[in-house]
Amino acid sequence: RKRRIGLIFGGRSGEHEVSLASAKSVIANLDHEKYEVIPIAITKTGAWLLGADPQALLTAGQDTQPETTTTTVTLTGDPNVRRLIPLEGGEQLRENGALDAIFPVMHGTTGEDGALQGLLEMANVPYVGCGVLGSALGMDKEKMKMIFQTIGLPIVDYLVYRRHEWERSPEAVMDAIEQRLGYPIFIKPANLGSSVGINKAHNRAELEHAINVAAEYDRKIVIEKGINCRELECAVLGNDEPIVSIVGEVAASSEFFDYNAKYIDNKSEITIPAAIPQATAEEIRRQALQAFLALDLSGLARVDFFLEKETGQVYMNEVNTLPGFTQVSMYPMLWEASGIPYSELLDRLIELGIERHADRQ
Ligand code: ADP
Ligand code: MG
Ligand code: MG
Repeated sequence: RKRRIGLIFGGRSGEHEVSLASAKSVIANLDHEKYEVIPIAITKTGAWLLGADPQALLTAGQDTQPETTTTTVTLTGDPNVRRLIPLEGGEQLRENGALDAIFPVMHGTTGEDGALQGLLEMANVPYVGCGVLGSALGMDKEKMKMIFQTIGLPIVDYLVYRRHEWERSPEAVMDAIEQRLGYPIFIKPANLGSSVGINKAHNRAELEHAINVAAEYDRKIVIEKGINCRELECAVLGNDEPIVSIVGEVAASSEFFDYNAKYIDNKSEITIPAAIPQATAEEIRRQALQAFLALDLSGLARVDFFLEKETGQVYMNEVNTLPGFTQVSMYPMLWEASGIPYSELLDRLIELGIERHADRQ
């Protein structure tokens, strides 16, 4: 019997389009001899659609009002969870159509931060990737840093402010930031990805603007010392005994990796393996595994580092628990170069999701 894999993609986050591109690659590369793929699209307005063609699903969801025959997807054989996820329009899942696993190909808020993972836990269905805790830690840049610090991983100096502190005393906040971190600095909403809401500030006027921008996205704002660096990434795969890929380098076309550099102008350059000393690569791989275990991640993560140009010092930047997954995305490319082709990578991820689910029963 073929395994039935539900592929959830799209979503309300700013990374909707990125998710769509990732989902297309995943659908194209899943071995259709082994899997029956059930695409489940979430529109930008949050409607869940069920059907065959991802692009058509999402277009239908955005431009026209879908037929509002509200159906329900059966995630498991358990009749109690049948009504968990209402779907609008699209074809009905067959009777007894339990899914063997869900592959959330979602990026950003609600898809990557543990919210969807919590829903899937409640539905008692195996899914690819990190659980609730790991996903949440991987999304919250403050909590992630706190754990990195606890296990002694090097990170750049940073401060965190709540929106209300900023609104109450902006001058005092900026004084404290300038005193501790100087310029340039990076200002980030704590819980986002794809560089959305992130700005680099070189002076107080830019700082004020950047904090206002970040505060629109999140009630928690992270401010980091900006360093002159190369950006190195490696891929981790597994559950309790994860393996780590070779190291890759990504070079932005602009001053830093903003949303535009990542997805619009497509001029960023990926180099695999990164041209760095062997010892640096080993250090990065070791730290990537440490981070994966410390954050309680499972399935997959792309772990991102800064290599300071002047000093050669490695800093942990962040993990991404549902990294971009197109055929030209870093995560699958790192595995390809490490000996695991894209289709096999998908097999392994599904297997790991099913194993993790069984371990937790
Ligand atoms: P996201 O989760 O949105 O990718 P990151 O923290 O990775 O957020 O920041 C996005 C990009 O901004 C990085 O890839 C890098 O180019 C730049 N950047 C972020 N923080 C720093 C820093 N402290 N020093 C230098 N560059 C940084
Ligand atoms: Mg990120
Ligand atoms: Mg990043």
